[in-house]
Amino acid sequence: MSSSTAAARSPTRDVSDAPAITATDDELRGFLAEAEIPPLLPALAYVTGDLSLLRDDVRPDPHLLALPQGGMSADQAATARELALDALVRFRDGGCVRAAPPSHAELLHLVEHVVGESGMDDYLPLLEEELALRGDDRRGPQWRKADVAPETNFRVVVIGAGMSGILTAHRLAQAGIDYTVVEKNDDVGGTWYENTYPGCRVDNPNHNYSYSFAQRHDWPLHYSDQRVLHEYFRDCARDFGVLPHIRFGTEVRSLTWDDGAATWSVVVRGPDGNDDTLVANAVVSAVGQLNRPHFPEIPGIDSFAGVSFHSAQWDHDAPIDGARVAVIGTGASSVQFTPEIAPRAGQLFVFQRTPPWLGPSPDYHEAVPEGQRWLYAHVPTYSEWNRFWMFWRMGDGSIRGVRVDPDWDSSNGTVNVVNDLMRTMFVSYLEREFAERPDLLPHVVPTYPPGAKRLLRDNGVWAGALTRDNVELVSHEIREITPTGIVTVDGTAYDVIVYGTGFQASNFLTPMQVTGSGGIDLHEQWAGDARAYLGITIPGFPNLFCLYGPNTNIVINGSIIYFSECGVRYILGCMELLLRGQHASLDVRKDVHDEFNERVDAENRMMAWGWSDVPSWYKNDQGRVAQNWPFTLLEYWQRTLAPDPDDYVVA
Ligand SMILES: Cc1cc2nc3c(=O)[nH]c(=O)nc-3n(C[C@H](O)[C@H](O)[C@H](O)COP(=O)(O)OP(=O)(O)OC[C@H]3O[C@@H](n4cnc5c(N)ncnc54)[C@H](O)[C@@H]3O)c2cc1C
Repeated sequence: MSSSTAAARSPTRDVSDAPAITATDDELRGFLAEAEIPPLLPALAYVTGDLSLLRDDVRPDPHLLALPQGGMSADQAATARELALDALVRFRDGGCVRAAPPSHAELLHLVEHVVGESGMDDYLPLLEEELALRGDDRRGPQWRKADVAPETNFRVVVIGAGMSGILTAHRLAQAGIDYTVVEKNDDVGGTWYENTYPGCRVDNPNHNYSYSFAQRHDWPLHYSDQRVLHEYFRDCARDFGVLPHIRFGTEVRSLTWDDGAATWSVVVRGPDGNDDTLVANAVVSAVGQLNRPHFPEIPGIDSFAGVSFHSAQWDHDAPIDGARVAVIGTGASSVQFTPEIAPRAGQLFVFQRTPPWLGPSPDYHEAVPEGQRWLYAHVPTYSEWNRFWMFWRMGDGSIRGVRVDPDWDSSNGTVNVVNDLMRTMFVSYLEREFAERPDLLPHVVPTYPPGAKRLLRDNGVWAGALTRDNVELVSHEIREITPTGIVTVDGTAYDVIVYGTGFQASNFLTPMQVTGSGGIDLHEQWAGDARAYLGITIPGFPNLFCLYGPNTNIVINGSIIYFSECGVRYILGCMELLLRGQHASLDVRKDVHDEFNERVDAENRMMAWGWSDVPSWYKNDQGRVAQNWPFTLLEYWQRTLAPDPDDYVVA
């Protein structure tokens, strides 16, 4: 077991590092022409102390947040740019001297301007943390083991070195706790290491999809591709100093809790094929929800004699050029890779079960414009306010669009008035996109509510692919796969089959064997219906903590990194509780766990994804939504600030 002693530094930029502004007025005007407007005036108000910039006539409308520039009209945007130019010129001419940080009331005013709403008091502490304005890392442990339990041996095994595992390792190092990370791959990054398919990219803008305490202000693209994201997580792992603590090429096979010793025995299989046992006081499972590829249950699937592979295991040598290729699935990955391979294939057949809703995102593949990058670099706090703007509009600012209104007439398949607006907007987008192929419209316009399945981003490439002469959209059910092809109502022969069929998201913590207190088997206890308290702890499995566990996924609102940051803080809180109290174990109370899950289930039934009967990976085989968090991001933050000792049996 490796030991970590020095507190690791979180590589956050100090916003006071921004270079002095020497640009001319005309140059500034040019930069501002490319700015994201809604966070601009708050950033300038923050930096200059001039709160008169926060005028009501240039405030985003909370109902239009999803639109470009938060739905601001061209006139509003022009006014905002003029105000910003004036403020920037004054800031430059005054020697770029920053005003003192705002008072609590002033900060609240700033935040309310960005979100376009009032009554944000409850959110303020969360938002200040997310903003990380002064390079703060408030989610890190504020204690060290050496201070709270210097004599106690305490070791942790972390399973997985993706985004969540790297984060956990960093926090454990900051608390001075011994840990080892076990990773089955040869490198860190998880999702962003494994998914190398053409077109793979994040669909949450990077300024939001990154650690709050390791923000980057110079992302080359709004939505980074897999390579850039993998590099980011690798750089973070290196900068956090966690790489020497990772055992690569090593897979955890089983975990067994020893009631007497209050330890976990973790059996791992290393690159040499030999098994080894690690003993740990606590285990953190950071194995991801989307790490094990899912193949559909189609008769004859193994009989295909051509080349076939899953999108997460992309075969870069596959003979796609000029070939007859079948893609099965039109979910998130397929919508990214199908447009990439369509021009290469001789003929491409896209097999669809249900069409996706597409959110128009013109900048999806675009580089961050020069002017905006200049503003991020030179206007202190602009990048942070921009991140916060995204956090809000893609987070709690949009959740109202997918919650069922019991009084709403849902006959057109929508769940509330905002959901209906979304539908109207998305349908007219599809009508425009498929204007030249109206015959495809009945097949590409979903009948389920926006938000019942993951809403996908599109900049026109999906229709671009499906309307090509060499591409056919097939909506018939697949009956069978044969050595030469796929049998629908009419059999067809293919050279290559690509499965864009997602992951075994319901099979949490598989294929590991997990044996808890009294010899209970986790997968028998779950019986195909995984549940946990806050997605983290499971009754009967003391000192086992999950990240990206049951009911911590999100459909439209936010980034998984946020959930993992909250979860890791909570897990470190549990460890602090154990160490300070000289306790050996902590097991969540079954009644607390059950009551929480009842609330989750009730609320998920009121969300578009639980209400609709459209098939999706958000439901397990029993029809329960086991993946998604139905409440606000604020609620997850509040509930994971620190563990309540009363929720646990502590021994
Ligand atoms: C194509 C794709 C696009 C996505 N886009 C977004 C997005 O835009 N926004 C968003 O918020 N989320 C997105 N996600 C979800 C994404 O999975 C999370 O954002 C995040 O990367 C999860 O990180 P993680 O560390 O929890 O899990 P993972 O990244 O899945 O990492 C899990 C790690 O655990 C390792 N592991 C698993 N089992 C074992 C074992 N038994 N022994 C040892 N090691 C093991 C794996 O090898 C892997 O490295 C996307 C997912 C996919 C697949």
